[in-house]
Amino acid sequence: MTVTDVKTLADRIEDLLPQTQCTKCGYPACRPYAEAVASGDANYNQCPPGGTEGIARLAALLGKPVIPLNSANGVERPRPLAVIDEQVCIGCTLCMQACPVDAIVGAPKQMHTVIAELCTGCDLCVPPCPVDCIAMLPVTGEATGWNAWSQSQADAARARHDRHETRLARERDAAEARAAARRAASASAPAAAPAAVQASGTTAPSDPSASPLAGDAEAKKRAIIQAALERARKKKEDMAATGQGPMNTENVSADVQAQIDAAEARRRRLGLASGDDTRGSEQPSNESSPPSDSPPAAR
Ligand code: SF4
Ligand code: SF4
Ligand code: SF4
Repeated sequence: MTVTDVKTLADRIEDLLPQTQCTKCGYPACRPYAEAVASGDANYNQCPPGGTEGIARLAALLGKPVIPLNSANGVERPRPLAVIDEQVCIGCTLCMQACPVDAIVGAPKQMHTVIAELCTGCDLCVPPCPVDCIAMLPVTGEATGWNAWSQSQADAARARHDRHETRLARERDAAEARAAARRAASASAPAAAPAAVQASGTTAPSDPSASPLAGDAEAKKRAIIQAALERARKKKEDMAATGQGPMNTENVSADVQAQIDAAEARRRRLGLASGDDTRGSEQPSNESSPPSDSPPAAR
């Protein structure tokens, strides 16, 4: 089978998936699962949202028998809808960052809301919530799998996920460009001073930021902030070890939340976010607005 054939098969498999992007199949989204099934790396019974009907569709495409859903991937169930208890929400934005289809709107330190018609019921917003204020409520009665989810809903979720991924890639590129610009400016600052002195014939550079002293001050400032961040990280670890850290079932105190917010803001400003948490640390500059392809927040 050629690469082109695998891609074509992956496309056809993807067309049959429910597109909730829930990751229950063991892959980060529907598309990677489709590619894994097409290449033989994954079985075609690993998608709980598709359920028995979904397996039957894939079996027909692949010319294979209908087999039971792999229970290791979950169970077929009525489709749930995420509902946020707005009285408890602390506005940490973690759920919004976790949602694969941008179905949550809100602003830092303000309540967040799920746009019901956009929610795929994927559950991904639940684990990150530090105050456990998101409930998944069944909304389709006895209907499960494809009986609880239409093709048009799947198509819409797929389109929203594609736009979501495009937005994240754009934000990552912008963050990397800003970090590269900062590194370049930092590296050129000490070298710029002698050049400026030579050009002007004086010992006092006209641009204070080009001074070696300015470079030293910047390096010192970054070192101080790095040390502060390291202390904050250590403190967070210590608190988690003693059961005081943010957990799914316990409130975080206001001062701990403020410390987390301040540390994350500094990391974003300084481009110190690690690759693992780019999503959380590289919020768009218009954090207070919902994603551009989401309806505006009600407030
Ligand atoms: S709906 Fe969920 S389990 Fe099914 S293929 Fe998509 S991500 Fe995987
Ligand atoms: S609101 Fe929650 S359950 Fe609904 S799609 Fe977003 S992450 Fe999934
Ligand atoms: S994760 Fe929980 S507390 Fe944080 S914004 Fe979402 S609903 Fe609110």
